[in-house]
Amino acid sequence: MAEKLPHIPRSRGDDDWSRPALEARLDVWEKAAGCRPRHVSGDPVPPESARGKIENLVGFAQVPLGIAGPLRVDLTVGRREVYVPMAATEGALVASHARGMRLCAEGGFVRARVLGEGLTQNPMLVYASSEEAVAAGELALRYADELAVIVKRTTNHGALVALRPEAIGRRLILSLVFRTGDAIGINMAARAADLVSAELAARTAPLERYVHGQDVEKRANSRALVEGRGRRAVAEVTVPRAALESLARTTPEKMVAALRSYHVGFAQLGTQNWLVQSANGLSAVFLACGQDLAYVTESATGFLDFEVTPGGDLYASAHLPSLLVGTVGGGSGQGTAAECLDLLGVRGTGGGNTFAEILAATVLAGDLSLMAAFTAHEFVEAHERLGRNRPQPE
Ligand code: NAP
Repeated sequence: MAEKLPHIPRSRGDDDWSRPALEARLDVWEKAAGCRPRHVSGDPVPPESARGKIENLVGFAQVPLGIAGPLRVDLTVGRREVYVPMAATEGALVASHARGMRLCAEGGFVRARVLGEGLTQNPMLVYASSEEAVAAGELALRYADELAVIVKRTTNHGALVALRPEAIGRRLILSLVFRTGDAIGINMAARAADLVSAELAARTAPLERYVHGQDVEKRANSRALVEGRGRRAVAEVTVPRAALESLARTTPEKMVAALRSYHVGFAQLGTQNWLVQSANGLSAVFLACGQDLAYVTESATGFLDFEVTPGGDLYASAHLPSLLVGTVGGGSGQGTAAECLDLLGVRGTGGGNTFAEILAATVLAGDLSLMAAFTAHEFVEAHERLGRNRPQPE
């Protein structure tokens, strides 16, 4: 394991937003990443780097960026300690995740794993009858190997790994599952889905074909929770009772009881998000790391689980079945995003699953901290102290 990372330095009161306070934190960034982040600390990126990411460019939006950690995490690639970059305009968000990471560290390492990968894209073909739709689905299954070859011709990193036709009346949903390497892979999947569905259409003469037919993209949906999409990840840790009592003024029993009440509320809502603040942590890391923010809709889906262990400590896990993230492609390669992915040590080829595992651990830390704040009745006070922004007259 890498040398232990220092705690993130903080100054008291308003000094914490001063230039020297920033410099002290950039020092620990440099220690972790091996170099100082030019763009995070103020250098603009060349406008040309935005090509392919935006049209009608006028400049760059600025969002404050903080770091939380160290997060101690046991990943598929081994144990690591990382600072997690988070961009947000919600006071208390970074502090909450930082406290959760400290709670986790008292339990050792958060164990995080990607359990499966598969980006689904679901073209739809409309036939004259249900009989034709079912027959077309059966044909697609018979020719699955040929369809996979069509995909292989279009991408070096993508592959068609499963094909699941399902007829709904006279409409055939052709669910295609792709491996996409370290990218989210939606561009390669969309192109492949277009070619595959066109090939099936050429053999079966549907009345109509829609490449995004069952449009799961960027939409909270029950398939995201049940089947998963993108990378399916889990994170788990056991937090010692003493740490909960001293750092968060709560107990394992109170945490379990609170989550049970939340679950009743979630069931009544019919939500697909049984985590507590996954959208907060994910959107902040997504923004820092050049991810497509709209995928938070699907990515924030998942389950949180708490249990008191036989030894009286708190077992906690976060299960995120639809993490749509990439360390290659999209906005991941430029400016502040590249620096943030470098801070995590995940930029580029080979980083996709590690990034997803770090995200799962980050979500778990955030949920532990927020539930602790609820049980200790400290949530409102923390936001009053850290997150109130009373606009001043100009
Ligand atoms: P991408 O920006 O299209 O980049 C993926 C490319 O990187 C592929 O061409 C791939 O090459 C190459 N690559 C190199 N090393 C790779 C590796 N290790 N793993 C995977 N690919 C590797 O990325 P994307 O994830 O497909 O698309 C993300 C972008 O699409 C985001 O900006 C997102 O906002 C946008 N988007 C598109 C749609 C859509 O429907 N088209 C929808 C939503 C969002 P090969 O082609 O040779 O494999």
